[in-house]
Amino acid sequence: MSDLNILDKGPVFNSSSFLGHEQVVFCQDEETGLKAIIGIHSTTLGPALGGTRMWNYNNEADAIRDVLRLSRGMTYKAAISGLNLGGGKAVIIGDSRKDKTDALMRKFGEYVNSLSGRYITAEDVGINPHDMEMVKMATDHVTGIPESKGGSGDPSPVTAYGVYMGMKAAAQQKWGSNNLEGKKVLVQGIGHVGETLVKHLADEGALVTINDIHEDRMSEIATKYHTQILRGNAIFENDMDIYAPCALGATVNNESIAKMKCSVIAGAANNQLADENVHGKMLREKGILYAPDFLINAGGLINVYREIAHYDQDEALKRTENIYNTTLEIFDLSDKNNITTHEAALKIAEQRVANKKNELAEA
Ligand code: NAD
Repeated sequence: MSDLNILDKGPVFNSSSFLGHEQVVFCQDEETGLKAIIGIHSTTLGPALGGTRMWNYNNEADAIRDVLRLSRGMTYKAAISGLNLGGGKAVIIGDSRKDKTDALMRKFGEYVNSLSGRYITAEDVGINPHDMEMVKMATDHVTGIPESKGGSGDPSPVTAYGVYMGMKAAAQQKWGSNNLEGKKVLVQGIGHVGETLVKHLADEGALVTINDIHEDRMSEIATKYHTQILRGNAIFENDMDIYAPCALGATVNNESIAKMKCSVIAGAANNQLADENVHGKMLREKGILYAPDFLINAGGLINVYREIAHYDQDEALKRTENIYNTTLEIFDLSDKNNITTHEAALKIAEQRVANKKNELAEA
């Protein structure tokens, strides 16, 4: 995970990234070296659930930007997926390969615990199930623990399934059929989510090309699923029907859009649009159909929510499958209102939060 250039290049502290957060908590402990920030964007629909990311940020401003953008995204991801969860996220500043200790994770758990359930944590980049077990020693407000310990386990296969459903909905909208057989799909980033997505696509007969920064990983996946390999960073000039970003954020930006030849963008990465307003519109003008990231990558959250709402994996998969229908509804709303697909998804999510706020105010 730590090779992932996860930090996106979105605007710093503009109104859309800073406004609306209920609470931001800075956590510091000299003894363990812990430096963390917990962002609680909203608890209107329920406790703010979102993973903890450990990343070697260049500076604290980058860490704040990351946690603010990610926690806001979690509010909308839960809202549009019909989950009774708010949006939160945490970042720990440091190199997960060198600076992470069990004591540091337990101390982080104490800070999570001090929020009395307003924030529930889970895994994200740089954090593994063992770390979550350490966090669990200090707090019950944690999900995504291993199945052997009574948790829901690795959420990424469910995330990949949801992305696949969102991609099929986009194909339906764009080409009048959700069949991906013969479609040229570029999957950028073949990690936990990317690999399972490649599997679904290969099973359906899509013509998959993969791109990753790790040569050994590309050879392994190409052999396993009979895909093409595309090396290097110059990927957008390539001929493709669908671009599936499954590595880092903000890959949809001025430079990439200018080169893009795809008709559809549908992938797992969070915050794919470097600037959600500017780049959403640019895609629409160019006729590229964008399946909103926070809608189609919600499968992992739906799966983790099992631990809180006590439903089983079949139910989680059913709810994830429904991403197909929701994505089509969003495309419809976007067309009818002449707004971008991102704006349409945001509208639905914001409406659900607003309705709940009104309901609470009237109670
Ligand atoms: P991962 O770390 O397992 O995989 C990421 C892959 O991207 C790695 O193979 C890495 O080598 C590759 N990569 C890094 N930088 C790259 C670059 N510049 N170009 C090409 N490849 C690059 O992560 P993951 O769990 O598969 O998650 C993928 C993305 O989806 C992340 O952005 C994550 O935030 C998002 N996401 C994941 C989940 C989940 O359930 N895991 C849920 C929602 C969103």
